[in-house]
Amino acid sequence: MDGIKLKEKILNEVKCEVQKLDFTPSLCVIQVGNNPASNVYIKQKEIMCNNVGYKFIHKKLSDDITEKEILHLIDKLNKSDDITSILIQMPLPDYLDEKKIQNRVNPLKDVDGLNDINIINLINNKQGLKPCTALGVLELLNEYKITLKGKKIAIIGRSTLVGMPLFHLLENKDATVTLCHSKTINLKEITLNSDIVICAVGKKHLITQDMINKDTIVIDVGINKENGILYGDVDFENIKNKASYITPVPGGVGPLTIACLAKNILESYNIQK
Ligand code: NAP
Repeated sequence: MDGIKLKEKILNEVKCEVQKLDFTPSLCVIQVGNNPASNVYIKQKEIMCNNVGYKFIHKKLSDDITEKEILHLIDKLNKSDDITSILIQMPLPDYLDEKKIQNRVNPLKDVDGLNDINIINLINNKQGLKPCTALGVLELLNEYKITLKGKKIAIIGRSTLVGMPLFHLLENKDATVTLCHSKTINLKEITLNSDIVICAVGKKHLITQDMINKDTIVIDVGINKENGILYGDVDFENIKNKASYITPVPGGVGPLTIACLAKNILESYNIQK
């Protein structure tokens, strides 16, 4: 499954939609501190916004800012008509309450889909903004015309960022979903009994070829860096000829996270309108 090609397709579609608008939607990223990885991710967001035609605003705050000051800034941005989307760049420094800060973002501007109101909407299959990486997995399955209704799907990893939202998205599509985690007993038995295996753990080659049946669909969300080389959670080389579809790392799910952010910014604007 080619995530790079699909990313370009989605970004072009979004760009065409944005060109038709009589208003420029915007993304405001709030960063606290100077985490090097966050700097890279924020740069990628800025490039995407420039490419698609969104206004990009970066609020880089020093890590001696108080929680009260951040909440006050979010309140101001929530009220601003010029700011249509807000994203809190994670991780925040330890002294800040991530959940409290995330929940302060207006749910209609919360393009990360991590505000509790958006999570409740997701669980109840109601309209709302949804987490980008989980949406990216759905985009890939959709692009390759994989029907989900009635399929047995194993998701490995239950984080609020990836595994948990994916569970609800897929269950809302009438798949039968098993959500696995570090305490799951006999993971192999579950993956061998699944039509689709999605891994979002962050452990290189957790999924080995003996855990996958012939013609299973394998989606690898994991990103692991070893000696400067990126690996997924799936032993790609030994599974690629066995699976009917498989995502590489890099070039699979990764590019779709930013593509889905572009879609969410447009959706956020449309919902507010
Ligand atoms: P996370 O919050 O650390 O969650 C990891 C999950 O894996 C937890 O639910 C944990 O179980 C489970 N787990 C750990 N060891 C396991 C094992 N041996 N067997 C089964 N489950 C196990 O991670 P995350 O934020 O979801 O990210 C997961 C991976 O996806 C990372 O590599 C991350 O870099 C990558 N990622 C990629 C993108 C992208 O754009 N492609 C976006 C986000 C994340 P417990 O709940 O029991 O602890």
